Amino acid sequence: MSSKIKCEDLTFSLYPGAREMKMYESHYRDGKWDEGAIVPFHNISLSPAANILNYGQGIFEGLKALRSEKGHIVLFRPEENARRFVRSAEKLAIPALTEEKFLAAVKDVVLENEEFVPESNNGRCSMYLRPVCIGTEPLLGVRASQEYLFFIFASPVGPYFDKVGVVKLIAKEVNRATPNGTGDAKAVCNYPVTMRPKQEAKKAGFDDVIYLDPCENKYIEEAGAANFFALLKDGTLVTPPLGSILPGITRDSVIRLAREFYGMKVEERPLSVEEVVQNAVECFVTGTAAIITSVSDIGWRDKVYNVNQNGFQLAHKLYDKLMGIQLQRDEDPYGWITVLK
Ligand code: PLP
Repeated sequence: MSSKIKCEDLTFSLYPGAREMKMYESHYRDGKWDEGAIVPFHNISLSPAANILNYGQGIFEGLKALRSEKGHIVLFRPEENARRFVRSAEKLAIPALTEEKFLAAVKDVVLENEEFVPESNNGRCSMYLRPVCIGTEPLLGVRASQEYLFFIFASPVGPYFDKVGVVKLIAKEVNRATPNGTGDAKAVCNYPVTMRPKQEAKKAGFDDVIYLDPCENKYIEEAGAANFFALLKDGTLVTPPLGSILPGITRDSVIRLAREFYGMKVEERPLSVEEVVQNAVECFVTGTAAIITSVSDIGWRDKVYNVNQNGFQLAHKLYDKLMGIQLQRDEDPYGWITVLK
């Protein structure tokens, strides 16, 4: 089935015609999940005392369905999103969600909305899938909900950043997650703290914020919805270590491509803003939404540093390889692609 969506009209926002689309929902009650079903996209009714509205017990995921150059509809490493969703659920005491349930529901949502998967236009456009699970039980005391709603909706999307390909970031002494907290889960509670810094960054002419480590306010953690990489003068590619950051699936893919495909030295280690502004010749961020987006400048303590004297070469090379695999233009050496149709 061909697409009824034009790529050039899309931005990274909820499709205005979402009500024409289908979504999935499944309920957890009396100690078990029901089978779940595909239903029309609709609003959700919740008690004002629902756990998610008061105590924020909720998790989500983000992945894309793409129209490949071989004419298939494909997913990129969806089993990794399933694994992360289940890990996030366990961290937030959400019971008994399985990878199988997640994957089956994701596939159903894509196939039910096939005509909304846009032409990809070299990766610019796709159908974004948003699986969410929230505690719905009405309660007053702080405790885990005993009722949950797991749903998945979809939206055709264009690029995440307004300026495709290159952004300016500002490093702020703001922490989005703590070492023993929820930073490594895709939990809704990690995101509200980023709203105000992002507003301030936009006002100051930047596109997004780089968040710093909560102990010393010195080491880069990640951007609002993407992981950070710096290519140093000596040719080493460095990215902050896992721990309190989201273990990005694009991050993992880029590390493997850089190491195994391009034979680069890649280090996962603490990376200070100071080291980056003094020593980086190229920086970029990675994520399902951001894909691989180059960073031209970083604002840090009243100065703005150009961090891309390399002409974006590495980001472009990695982007082309990643996209080549995702769009089935290139061979898929790691078995990352799931063909749905
Ligand atoms: N970091 C944060 C905070 C995110 O929200 C995301 C987006 O999912 C990422 C990193 C990138 O992760 P992935 O590559 O799995 O999309």
